[in-house]
Amino acid sequence: MHNQVYVNRTLNMRKIKFIGLDMDHTLVRYNTKAFEELAYQGMLQKLVADKNYPEDVLKLKFDFDFVIRGLVIDHARGNLLKVSRHGAIRGSRHGTETISFQQQQKDYKGKYVDLGGADFSSIDTAFSISVAILFSQLVELKDETSHKYPDYGKLLEDIVEVMDMAHRDDSLKSVVRDNMEKYIIQEPSVAEGLERYKKHGKSIFILTNSDFHYTKALLDYAINPFLKNHKNWMELFDYTITSARKPRFFYDNINFLKVNPSDGTMTNYDADLIKGIYQGGCADLFEKSLQVSGDDILYIGDHIYGDIVRLKKDCNWRTALVVDELNEEIAKMKKAKPARTQIQDLMDKKLPLEKQLVDLVSDEIEQGVKHDEEIAKLQTAITQLDNQISPLIKQSQSLFNAHWGEVMRAGNEESYFANQVERFADIYMPTLADLLAQSPRTYFRSHRRPMPHEIGLDMTAEEI
Ligand SMILES: [Mg+2]
Repeated sequence: MHNQVYVNRTLNMRKIKFIGLDMDHTLVRYNTKAFEELAYQGMLQKLVADKNYPEDVLKLKFDFDFVIRGLVIDHARGNLLKVSRHGAIRGSRHGTETISFQQQQKDYKGKYVDLGGADFSSIDTAFSISVAILFSQLVELKDETSHKYPDYGKLLEDIVEVMDMAHRDDSLKSVVRDNMEKYIIQEPSVAEGLERYKKHGKSIFILTNSDFHYTKALLDYAINPFLKNHKNWMELFDYTITSARKPRFFYDNINFLKVNPSDGTMTNYDADLIKGIYQGGCADLFEKSLQVSGDDILYIGDHIYGDIVRLKKDCNWRTALVVDELNEEIAKMKKAKPARTQIQDLMDKKLPLEKQLVDLVSDEIEQGVKHDEEIAKLQTAITQLDNQISPLIKQSQSLFNAHWGEVMRAGNEESYFANQVERFADIYMPTLADLLAQSPRTYFRSHRRPMPHEIGLDMTAEEI
């Protein structure tokens, strides 16, 4: 399946006048594993150098597959949770160890958590994968040698602080700039697609939290070599807004600064925006100055909270989310399909047997008639089916992340992350190139989603 765009809410691209792009992980794709490892190492160094953590932490090893996007950190208890759309816990670890069902019941007094509570933060961007890995490992170190480390909550605070420092100072950026081919994926189809969208009269702008110098370095590498009708990215993009401080950009009231592209120096700016490069600003001024209304703008980002959730709540922009994990997850779903079909077939056999069993036991209770032999037979048949089903479930699960399973599902339900995607992203796709491969005149239509009472209803006109 190539260049798929998935639709939550109908979107007519012909009506979109402005296309806004986040830069990191959206317009510019990273080799996420390599970059997260770099961030992780940087965080270890800073924990020791700036936070006086024991040097033991320098021995920790980066384990990329330990965490998936969408997990929730419980920083009061030192746990990582996989949660369904209803807030039901579908998997849990303390440090790096699985929490037993009994312990989980004790910790959470049942199965549900209120994610709005102050103890929880969700891992909703690729940048925070290394944060969650490190948190779990430090929880384990603290449990072993308690006196050397602060409590779980402070551990997470320190980790987030050193991550912010590493992203803010030049320590990560300078390594990326010096090793572009290791960390950045060049995609000629992105430049090509953007030039095509320009031909259809779309204005294209960048809205990034990265600073001008880093933005320039990345775009010089990822965009310039592939342009055919534009001299460079500065000519391609109508407006480039750097150091935008999303999600604050969407609800605050801050003036733009104008950036001089030749040296990155800035001057105050309070006139209407003209083509060029800016720093800061806010959505309200952006719309007023360009006389554009929210639903004329499609914004594409990869960060469900920073890019999409606040944007949808505070402005009325249309939204598209890049979900890097999708292609891999769909490929694995295809592999799991034969086993899942067999599971369904066996379930179809099991359900009528279960109903018969319920009826017989009810009959015994209500009528006082004995059905011992039939009941024993049914129970044996059900156990035999279960014995066939459980290895098939294991087999299909083994295709996905060994610790957490699928990104978009928690058992039979959608994951909390999938639910966020559904609520806040109008469309979503694996990469920006997948969207740009579609015509700028595409009418993206959402599917009718059946509710439980509609499933299996095959209604003809007469029946209605
Ligand atoms: Mg991003």
